[in-house]
Order: sequence, then C-alpha cells, then structure tokens
Amino acid sequence: MPNPKRRWSKSRRDKRRTHYKATISALGTCSNCGEMKLTHRACPSCGYYNERSMFIPKS
Ligand SMILES: [Zn+2]
Repeated sequence: MPNPKRRWSKSRRDKRRTHYKATISALGTCSNCGEMKLTHRACPSCGYYNERSMFIPKS
C-alpha cells in the first residue's frame, strides 16, 4: 500500500487548513420577514415557511 514517506510539517498542515472556514451554509433569510433562519425550517421569528404561516410566534 502506498504510504506518505514523512509527516507534513505543522506549517504545511496549517497552510492547508487556512481554506477551512467556519460557514453555516444552511442559513438563509426569511422571505416573509427577512430574518436569518435555517433553510427547510419554519422561520423562528414569524413562523412562516413556504409563504404560509406554520405557527404563531409567542412574542
Ligand atoms: Zn420570518
């Protein structure tokens, strides 16, 4: 089996990891109120999903 001859240095490893960025891709804006919301979930602030009200928010 092919194997790496030697371990990559901390510098090489860390340079590769500069491309690893913390992103929350499943985050969009609500089409009803414009708040940040998770996609494929009802909006937590207005309760709308797919242009329809799913629940009435308490506040
Ligand atoms: Zn909303």
